[in-house]
Amino acid sequence: MSAISVSNISKSYISKVLDDVSFEVKEGEMLALIGPSGSGKSTLMRHLSGLIKSDKSPFSHIRVLNHEVQKNGVLAKNIRQTRSKIGCIFQQFNLVNRLTVLTNVLIGCLGTIPAWRGYIGYFTAEEKRRALDALERVGLKEHAEKKAAHLSGGQQQRVAIARALMQQADIIFADEPIASLDPKSARVVMEMLQEINQIDGKTVIVTLHQVDVARQYCPRVIALRDGKLFFDGPRDQLTDELMFSLYEEDAKEMLTIDDPAVESLVKPAVEPIVRPMAAAS
Ligand code: ADP
Ligand code: MG
Repeated sequence: MSAISVSNISKSYISKVLDDVSFEVKEGEMLALIGPSGSGKSTLMRHLSGLIKSDKSPFSHIRVLNHEVQKNGVLAKNIRQTRSKIGCIFQQFNLVNRLTVLTNVLIGCLGTIPAWRGYIGYFTAEEKRRALDALERVGLKEHAEKKAAHLSGGQQQRVAIARALMQQADIIFADEPIASLDPKSARVVMEMLQEINQIDGKTVIVTLHQVDVARQYCPRVIALRDGKLFFDGPRDQLTDELMFSLYEEDAKEMLTIDDPAVESLVKPAVEPIVRPMAAAS
């Protein structure tokens, strides 16, 4: 079954930032969405979770888990219900700093409990047990009663993952989840996303700045350039040549490889101007 189906999505602000994007994601896939800064990754992710409407077009639609998210630039009426099945993880963690770690995880079940319980912050013993289990899975059970603000960045992102686990989301969208983290915390977070994909069978889409991380963790890669689909395929088909034409002059920064061969692959952004020598008289 198709977990995500995207057809002919365009989005214009002052200029076009998504241009006729279409792709399908199967249930249980782990996919990286890459591309230079400003290529439209976050805009596309926000379309998938129904936070932004696409330009009107009779052929445009997005379906997630067989529920309509939007069609012809109009959001589906039951979008809130569909959103409750989508777990979102962001670069800036999006925790409520003044609340405890445990309460932040419990927030994950707000979409499925009666609204009045959310308002007064009443959670059942069973919900608390599930939240503690989620925290145990991300290795933070002993921090449950601390304020979220008192954790490190890497720990806060693991709380956000626990919140998505609590939500029992079937799909995880992670937008630059490691961009604010040190390399070790980044690796832990990527391994957790990979585990949620491989062990729990959840479909995961993760936008990443670092191509080598994308290739390491995600069997399939989609690349955007200027809002257009530039590449969609298995990671081993994303050759260095393709990558360098994707990132052009920024290519070197996208790799953490320290290899002089990389240098030779990077073409100068502007061809050097060679002046013909004045003919000797
Ligand atoms: P990425 O996540 O790949 O860095 P974004 O999706 O954030 O790229 O942005 C793509 C382009 O759309 C950028 O040029 C950005 O300035 C523009 N953009 C995004 N959101 C808005 C908005 N609300 N209004 C106007 N322009 C926007
Ligand atoms: Mg972005």
